[in-house]
Amino acid sequence: MNNKISVVVPMYNEEEVANEFYTRTSNVLKNLPFDYEIIILNLVNNDEHIKAINFSRNFGHQAAITAGIENATGDAIITIDADLQDPPEVISDLVAKWCEGFDIVYAKRKSRKTDTFFKRFTAEMYYKILNKLSDIKIPENVGDFRLISKRVQEVFIKLPEKDRYIRGIFAWMGFKQAIVEFDRAPRFAGKTKYPLKKMIKLALSGIVGFSTKPLRLIFKLGLATTFISFILMIYAIIIKILGFSTHGWSSLMVAITFIGGVQLISLGIVAEYIAKIYGETKARPVYIIMDKYSNSLTTQK
Ligand code: UDP
Ligand code: MG
Repeated sequence: MNNKISVVVPMYNEEEVANEFYTRTSNVLKNLPFDYEIIILNLVNNDEHIKAINFSRNFGHQAAITAGIENATGDAIITIDADLQDPPEVISDLVAKWCEGFDIVYAKRKSRKTDTFFKRFTAEMYYKILNKLSDIKIPENVGDFRLISKRVQEVFIKLPEKDRYIRGIFAWMGFKQAIVEFDRAPRFAGKTKYPLKKMIKLALSGIVGFSTKPLRLIFKLGLATTFISFILMIYAIIIKILGFSTHGWSSLMVAITFIGGVQLISLGIVAEYIAKIYGETKARPVYIIMDKYSNSLTTQK
């Protein structure tokens, strides 16, 4: 068979894991009936199967994956972490699903006992919130260990957006998707390259990139505040009539809440327009064609 598998590996200060990663991954790939290449972001090696891409500085994990996918020449492209938390042996399962005809195959963490309680808890909460806010379903417990087919790569490369939350993009893309489960291993060596600050940045990029609901919330908040202001007004009038109120209190309270409500509603209207502009500037295609069939029902790719 002359199909080729590309493996894309972002490595940021991963000297301690690089050799072990290379050995284990090459062992898996050598035993598959395909040609292969390993694209390592930020490492040099003289194996003919290795392509190295070095950045001028660290542009982050998502940018590294993007560069790797854009430079991959395989028929299927696998992205995987360098620290062996994603076992390279699972690559065979991903490839098997691809051979069945799937375009995007996620490696899903069946258990993440090796991650800290904090990481597991925050990740779980985060995906729940993200999926509540976003219109598309972003699979939970799926990182950036996945396989994509060449036609998915082609669409991905054409996307004009710069700040890419890759997990969201592939979920949004559609095509035939499958999941393969695995147990997440502990980090082989070294420390995490995702401190809390980077995690929060990635989390926000996911929410802002796939939902405008936070912007639209302003309008609802404005309606709620205005509603409360009316209730307060009625209450203020009643206690005024009954003679319990301090002089000036009623008018002050009503004015503050009412103006607050009107301001939030106005801001909410502006936010609607910003959301619209934002959606347009992202310039994601309105649709993606997967296959075209002619009368004879043959697939044209
Ligand atoms: N990584 C990267 N750039 C960064 C941060 C991380 O290329 O700024 C790579 C890192 O080398 C590893 C992968 O992204 O291959 C996942 O990082 P890590 O294992 O540290 O994250 P964790 O598993 O702790 O969430
Ligand atoms: Mg890791």
